[in-house]
Amino acid sequence: KGLNQESLAYMPSHVDTPSYDRSKVKAGIVHIGVGGFHRAHQAMYINELLKTPGSEQWGICGVGLLEANRGLRDVLKQQDYLYTLTVRHPNGTIDNTVIGSMIDFLFAPENKQAVINKLAHPDTKIVSLTITEGGYNFNPVTGEFDYANPDIINDINNPNDPITAFGYIAAALKLRKEQGLGAFTVQSCDNIQHNGNVTRKMLLAFAAEQDAALSEWIAANVMFPNAMVDRITPVSKQSDIDYVVDAYGVSDEWPITCESFTQWVIEDSFCDGRPNWDNAGAQFVKDVTPFETMKIRLLNAGHSVLGLLGSVHGYGTIDETVSDPLFAKYLRAFMDKEVTPNLEQLEGIDLEIYKDTLIERFANPNIKDSLSRICSESAAKLPKFLIATINENLAQGRDVSLATLVIAAWCFYSDKGEDEQGNTLEVIDAMQSELHEAAAKTTTDNLAFLSLTSLFGDLNTQSAFTSHYKNNVDALYAPASKIKAIMKNVLEPK
Ligand code: NAD
Repeated sequence: KGLNQESLAYMPSHVDTPSYDRSKVKAGIVHIGVGGFHRAHQAMYINELLKTPGSEQWGICGVGLLEANRGLRDVLKQQDYLYTLTVRHPNGTIDNTVIGSMIDFLFAPENKQAVINKLAHPDTKIVSLTITEGGYNFNPVTGEFDYANPDIINDINNPNDPITAFGYIAAALKLRKEQGLGAFTVQSCDNIQHNGNVTRKMLLAFAAEQDAALSEWIAANVMFPNAMVDRITPVSKQSDIDYVVDAYGVSDEWPITCESFTQWVIEDSFCDGRPNWDNAGAQFVKDVTPFETMKIRLLNAGHSVLGLLGSVHGYGTIDETVSDPLFAKYLRAFMDKEVTPNLEQLEGIDLEIYKDTLIERFANPNIKDSLSRICSESAAKLPKFLIATINENLAQGRDVSLATLVIAAWCFYSDKGEDEQGNTLEVIDAMQSELHEAAAKTTTDNLAFLSLTSLFGDLNTQSAFTSHYKNNVDALYAPASKIKAIMKNVLEPK
């Protein structure tokens, strides 16, 4: 049997199915970019809210802008927009929930006007996004809107025939303005620092070029809450599909698997109402900045520490790496000694518990997160995740030795492209050739990698950093060197 509204009646009792009347749910949220993360995160929060009466106006209509979303539309339609969320706890326990909060899905390439009309419909109060960092169309070096993108050029010149998220949103807001309707909130759920501010800046840059009056109206009326989002959601695999059939005899063609941890911290700025997400575990705050800093400096930097050191050693996944006691000890020492002193105490968060939980999350053997994915685009990630911490510690006269070895390992990784046993590493980075070129000069100049000043700033002139860095690089490049021995030395200097 295939999963759909009718087959819900045949589900075993251990599967949590929508207990609410889905025919009464209206789409107050239109979501662009229905990937795995949206289905594990925002759609799950709404599903929880719908279990108690009063939130029926906050259902979700999914939107797919890309041709690649055709298959997803077909699957969701055939399944009455239902799918299974398989939550895998670190201890091996599994919870299965059929999520019912999505009640429709529009595939834009087939009917663009239907998408514009849906966004402009008075029932739509929030337009939310998970379109990946690339969807925001900013230049990664300058942070400014990229007007050279051909899709953007199309959208600026053809307001009724859009391709990009900005083109659709601007077209819908224009209709609302003309019809005297108020604005909707644009809510980014992407993993970008100050995602609301970035979305606002990009949409205004786009609209200013297309229609100056519209841009002014958007600036005055639309709200863009910032948020920190967190839940590790790997790409769905055939084994996830097989698992659902085996577990309850119903076939779901696109189930989502994720970890049990989830977090959503949102600035409470919405211009046309919002669901009470706090009743489903989200947190509303005035300023999301310290929460983002905590997450980036501990979770994302922690991933890079394990990813780069683990790759050089020859490990393949995060759980494999952190189950090595030396790596777990190193990560914890890095978080305690070099990150925590720079973090603020946050309301509702015990940092010690947050760090314990992080290590438990990384160790989850049921969430196989590859080190190649973790280390991909390190040039875009490390300045925010790790180098910012090093700079703050240097300014305060604090120790930087644990983080410094990670930079040295990054140099070795970029130079050699293989682990210390000689196995090839899959290096994915937009700056790969620059990284390799600088790193390859290390044997003649052991500070050469640091000459990439767009990443490292003036670290190559700071002796409190370079003294550790030189020692680490020399040790890593020594014949028959072993990263674990170097890690032990950094943890307990002789
Ligand atoms: P995904 O690839 O499963 O989904 C992304 C969706 O966005 C797809 O439907 C894709 O077609 C669409 N999309 C991609 N580029 C687009 C564009 N330019 N315009 C419009 N639509 C576009 O990825 P995911 O795992 O759902 O992650 C999406 C985003 O969610 C990430 O980039 C990140 O910002 C955030 N996030 C993910 C995780 C995670 O663990 N997966 C955790 C926290 C935050």
